[in-house]
Amino acid sequence: MDLVFPLEYQPGNWCKHFTGRFQKHCQAGIAYITFQASALPCLKDNCATEICPHASFPTVTEVQAQMQEMEGLIKQALPNLSQGICPQCGHPIERKEMEGFSQYAMPCRHRLGTTF
Ligand SMILES: [Zn+2]
Repeated sequence: MDLVFPLEYQPGNWCKHFTGRFQKHCQAGIAYITFQASALPCLKDNCATEICPHASFPTVTEVQAQMQEMEGLIKQALPNLSQGICPQCGHPIERKEMEGFSQYAMPCRHRLGTTF
């Protein structure tokens, strides 16, 4: 099995209502604790044994729109980063600091990215 998935796999694989594993409820108001299994049905391809009746996954057209938006943001951010400008607030990056797996621009503290 190939463990490297194309980028568009990610937005297409998550339920539209998913808010994050550390939240209590999804946008449809379903409490994550409702599901007893460790695999949430919010992720299409995770072998979940339980089904959420409110699960709704993006269409191919919606995934393509999300991909175009992400590509636009990346194209916009890269020139700023290469010139030492924070892509979120436009202020100069005096230095970069790592905190956990994330890198932050200083002094504004906007997150620049995550490494794994
Ligand atoms: Zn910033």
